[in-house]
Amino acid sequence: MNGPSVPALPAQRPVRGTSEYLRNLNRSAVLAAIWKQPGLSRTEIAEHLGLSKSTVSTAVSELVGRQLVKDAQGRTGHKVGRPSRPLELDLERNAVLGWELGVGLVQLRVMNLAGQVMASRQTDAAGLGPAETLELLGELSEEALAETGWPVLRGLGLAVPGLVSPSDGQLQLAPNLDWSGVPLGVLLLAEAKRFLPRSGDEGFPAVLDNEANAGAAALLDWPQARARNLAYLSLDIGLGAGLILNHRLFTGGRGYAGEAGHLCIEPTGQPCHCGKRGCAETRINLRRWRQASGDRNRLAEEMGGDLGLLLSHLANLLDLDSIVLGGRLLEEAGGAFLEASRESLATHTLRGVQAHLQLLVSPYGQATSVIGAGALAAQVFFSQPRPEGSLEEWTSFTAWLRPAG
Ligand SMILES: [Zn+2]
Repeated sequence: MNGPSVPALPAQRPVRGTSEYLRNLNRSAVLAAIWKQPGLSRTEIAEHLGLSKSTVSTAVSELVGRQLVKDAQGRTGHKVGRPSRPLELDLERNAVLGWELGVGLVQLRVMNLAGQVMASRQTDAAGLGPAETLELLGELSEEALAETGWPVLRGLGLAVPGLVSPSDGQLQLAPNLDWSGVPLGVLLLAEAKRFLPRSGDEGFPAVLDNEANAGAAALLDWPQARARNLAYLSLDIGLGAGLILNHRLFTGGRGYAGEAGHLCIEPTGQPCHCGKRGCAETRINLRRWRQASGDRNRLAEEMGGDLGLLLSHLANLLDLDSIVLGGRLLEEAGGAFLEASRESLATHTLRGVQAHLQLLVSPYGQATSVIGAGALAAQVFFSQPRPEGSLEEWTSFTAWLRPAG
């Protein structure tokens, strides 16, 4: 499909003059500190970040002026001496949007900056093309934002069941949507523009990634998950993994990392749509479950056994702390499937790895990826700008929309 070319991506706006740049950098660091640890006072933030108290006070005043931060209600600091006023994010006035483009359906969540869901929509989108699907999401989002009193939009994330190029947002292949070569990043930016009048002076980031990667991002802050080294397995029509290694999303050189569905578990098995044979996805998938007749319990055990084997490869290779499962197959195939996975994983995993490994079910159910899409956008919003020359790069396709003028 031919689409418009990718515009220059001002992920980091050029800032004139060192002092303005430094002020933005400090303000961003102060905001991120309050996001990660609500209740810190100005003095505590200064101590944590190694900044002077006056620098922190200036940054906080700016953030209060932009309605991002406020004094925490009904709480006072516990420090001896002068009372310190704790700070927190202004959760009511700000939001991020998470979008998920699934197979046959789309869904969205309006979330506050603490990740709590304020409004949601889900609808059938079978037969719609990429641009029409995004337009539908845009319209539904306006409705949902109106329902929550039009908070200021601070980010928009989109999760898709396919391979996304992090550099230009090209959807290379989404086999279960039957889409390939779609300039989805460009289409997302075009659709996201409708929200610019509802964003702050600085605009907002739009982020695009694979749905399993987004799902993993949703779990970064889940207290139950030891998320230093984590794999999120999305079990649906397709099978994908989102990997967090050393607390960071890992997507590989071109976004292909996590294609666990195409790890071969039966070399002489069924042909896969990828052109290979015996891929895990040919044996463990929602379509097979829904179309099966006969002994469902036996099929659940068989699929679970295969999944456990697949998971053991990931665990042994990466020395994972947590594996988290989600998706419609898990919900439909139920307890027998999960138990068989757990047994098979234990059978095939090295003892030293197994001692620290936990197998969990995502607390967000079918919403894991859509919530993760919002979480990805929030993470980008809270980390801009980054220091010049920083080695860190976004692993997702990311572009910052700014109001004209
Ligand atoms: Zn395959």
